[in-house]
Parts: sequence; structure tokens; C-alpha cells
Amino acid sequence: MHAKSIVKGLYALCFGAILYFWLKSSLPLLLSPDMSSILLAIGRIAGLTSVFLVLTQLLLIGRIKWIETLWGHDKLAKLHRSTGELLLYSIIIHFVCILVSYAGSAKTGLITQLVTFFDFYQDVFEAFIAFVMFVAIALSSIFIKRLRLKYETWYFIHLFVYLAIFFSYGHQLKIGGSLSDSQFALFWMALYVFVIANFVVFRFLRPTYFFMTHKFFVSRVVKGTSDETMIYISGKNMQNFKRLAGQFMIFRFLDRKRFWQAHPFSLSWDTSHHDIRITVKDSGDFTHEISGIQVGTPVFIDGPHGRFVIPEGDTSKLLFIAGGIGITPIMSLLSEHAKNHDTVLLYSNKTQSAIPLKNEITEVSQKHGVKTIYFFTEETTVRAPHIAGRIDKMNINAQVKDVTKRVVYLCGPVGFMEAVKSALLELGVPEENIHYEVFSFH
Ligand SMILES: Cc1cc2nc3c(=O)[nH]c(=O)nc-3n(C[C@H](O)[C@H](O)[C@H](O)COP(=O)(O)OP(=O)(O)OC[C@H]3O[C@@H](n4cnc5c(N)ncnc54)[C@H](O)[C@@H]3O)c2cc1C
Repeated sequence: MHAKSIVKGLYALCFGAILYFWLKSSLPLLLSPDMSSILLAIGRIAGLTSVFLVLTQLLLIGRIKWIETLWGHDKLAKLHRSTGELLLYSIIIHFVCILVSYAGSAKTGLITQLVTFFDFYQDVFEAFIAFVMFVAIALSSIFIKRLRLKYETWYFIHLFVYLAIFFSYGHQLKIGGSLSDSQFALFWMALYVFVIANFVVFRFLRPTYFFMTHKFFVSRVVKGTSDETMIYISGKNMQNFKRLAGQFMIFRFLDRKRFWQAHPFSLSWDTSHHDIRITVKDSGDFTHEISGIQVGTPVFIDGPHGRFVIPEGDTSKLLFIAGGIGITPIMSLLSEHAKNHDTVLLYSNKTQSAIPLKNEITEVSQKHGVKTIYFFTEETTVRAPHIAGRIDKMNINAQVKDVTKRVVYLCGPVGFMEAVKSALLELGVPEENIHYEVFSFH
């Protein structure tokens, strides 16, 4: 059986077990004519579902290698967002149903009941704090764009998830009706252990092991011709640090100014080089100052990640489409694979004076006969075969007659990718032949 189906099956089985234990303890409540009892049963399953979804979220975003290999980082990030919304609803339902149910049974007001919870029920105050944190985290994620939150602010709000998970744990075992069943409590703890173990191993221990083994450090910093900077990272036995062209890693530069933040960047050259190279565009406060990193700075690397790769033994004709700094993973794929593939590159930039990695593209294109067309969106006249305009349906059709027979690798700003993807679909490229990398985690 396919590995994905097995994982999905096990996941469904776990949720099935939760439903079973919930029904075992709550069916009489559910069938009772008393509204408070019904609400209690609903509140319980909403609470259990909320925890199950929180654990799911950790698996989705924990950079857990075996899960990322099956689904890919982009899909997991998307799923993480929709699961977050579901979690928000279920946690609110849990809170409201339990509060109204207890208040109904005690024939008291909601505020009085809440105060009673805090005063007389073990760990419920902590659980309430966790509830507030989860709601704030979910809302900050849903509204990150509208609130114009800085990435770092959003990220630090997200860190409270760990505290919220810790705070919410006690009340589940102490007063959770369904969890008074010892078999269920054991199963519940096993779920926690499984998820936390995976999270700790892949998020912390694996990168720490790589850091200790390879002792990564910045070996060279080179300003590019446009507003990009090339950072070269070296280390011990780099040939044993396995990575694939097209993948990305999350880099933490361990100097005083930068140690507290980690940023993702794609590999921007092929894997025949021992050193890692990334090419960073100035697009914010961190990247603006990246050229100031000193040679010798140690680097903590989480990765490699991502499925924006060309499988071994693949012989398909390739079409690379890049916009701006989206060229980085494409450059690494191009230099690794152009020698074995019939390849076309369409590369869009604003102007002719700002083309990241241009010299390398020219070198590889000439060496391996890659048809390379540049597009410039803010120029009116350019020398043929290059084009003043966008990579749209008409231009793709004109430049790549056999587009439907090619496997496409696409990377660039989100709007650019959406437009190009729909043009490709309209031209008849099968969706499964369009691979893309999104330069965003939220
Ligand atoms: C898989 C992937 C591969 C990438 N590859 C490259 C590359 O090869 N070259 C390149 O120049 N850029 C790449 N990026 C984008 C790069 O990570 C961001 O431009 C950079 O982190 C911006 O940081 P900043 O503080 O300078 O900008 P800010 O103005 O703070 O942020 C700009 C945007 O970058 C994103 N971002 C900011 N900080 C982080 C962070 N710590 N982690 C994740 N995202 C963040 C957010 O979407 C934010 O809205 C990649 C992103 C991803 C997700």
C-alpha cells in the first residue's frame, strides 16, 4: 500500500479511537433530554478534537522529514493554515459548551460559573489562559496580512503555542470526563509522546547533530550585480551533508545581531560543490543587512527541506520559469540538470540592469544549449529574442511550442506564480506537471 494512504489510515484510526472513547463516556449524556448534558457531551468532543488538531499542527509544521517527504512543505503549510481555522472553531465550541453546560446544571450565570471554575477546579485557570493564547495565535495567523503584522511578531506570538500546550494539558486529565477511562488516558499520553518525540527529533536534535558534525560557518560573502548577496557556507565533511538541487534550508547565523532569528533560503547552485551557496535578495530588515555577516560566523542549519527537486533518473523535457529572486532554486536545478535534459528557461525581471545570477545563467545556458528568454516588465524595448512584457499565456505559447510535453518548475512572487500557473493550465499543461516553490511560510 502507498505510504501516504497508510499514514492517512492511521490518522483516521486515531480519530476513530477518540470518537469511540468519547461515545463510551458521553453517549448517555448525548441521548439525555437535558440540554446541559448534551452540551457537555459536545463540549467534550470539541475539546478532544481541539487537542487532536493541536497535535496535528505540530506534525504538519514540525519539519518532520518523513511527513515532508510524503506531502511536501507547501502542502503541509496550506494544511496547517486550514487546520488552524478548524482548531479555532473547535476550541471556541469547547469553551462555550462546557461553560454553558456547567452554568446550566448549577443554575448560575456564566461569569459566576467561570469564577467557580477558576476557584474550585484543578488546572482550569491555566486551561483558560491556554484558550486565550490559542485564540490569539489563530487570529494573528488568519489576519496577519490585514493586521500588517511583521513576520517576527507573528512568529513570536506563535511561540506561545508551546506554553499553551503545556497549560492546557493538566485539566484534560484532571477533569476531562472521557479521559477518566484509563485505557483512553494511556492512548492519549501515547499520542502526546509520539508527536512531541517527532517534533523534538526533527526540529531540534537533527539540526543540532548536523551542526555538531559539520560545524558550518560562513566562508565567503559576495555582493551580486543586482541587490542580491551570495553567502557561501562551508564545514567539515560537506560531501556527507546530503542535499538535492532545488531544496531549501533554514539558516540561523550565530552572531550577536542575528542568532535569535532563522530564515529560509534555497540552495542557489548545484550539489557538485562542497560548499552550500544561497543568494539573498534585499527584501526586508534581515536581508538588507545580510552582506554585513562576517566570514567565519557559525551557521545553524535546519534542513534540507522541500520537494522542489527533479527525481533521479527523470528524463523529461524541462521548462523553468522564474520571477526575480525566484531564480535561486531554479538556478540550482538548471546547473544540476540541464546537461541531461532538453531545457527551456523563461526568466522575468523588472529591468535589464537587475538580473540576479545573470552571468551564471548565461554560462550554463551556453554550455548545455538551454533556450533562455528574459522578460522585462518595466522596459519598453529589448533586444530579441528577449521580451519586453510578462510571462503570460501568449508569450509562453509563442516561445515554448511543446509546453504541454514539458515538466514545469516555477518560482517567483506569489502573484506571478498564480498568473503563470493559470496560463499553463489554460495551455493544457497537466497540473501534476507543474511544480512550484513558494517563498513564504504563512
Ligand atoms: C522555502 C523558501 C525559500 C526561500 N528562498 C529564498 C532565496 O533563495 N532567496 C531569497 O532572497 N529569499 C528566499 N526566501 C524568502 C526569504 O526567506 C525572505 O525574503 C526573508 O526571510 C525576509 O526576511 P526579512 O527580515 O529581510 O524581511 P521582512 O520584511 O521581515 O519579511 C518579508 C517577508 O519574508 C518572510 N519572512 C520574513 N522573515 C522570515 C523568517 N524568519 N522565516 C520565514 N519567512 C520569513 C515573510 O513572508 C515576510 O512577510 C525563501 C523563503 C522560503 C519560505
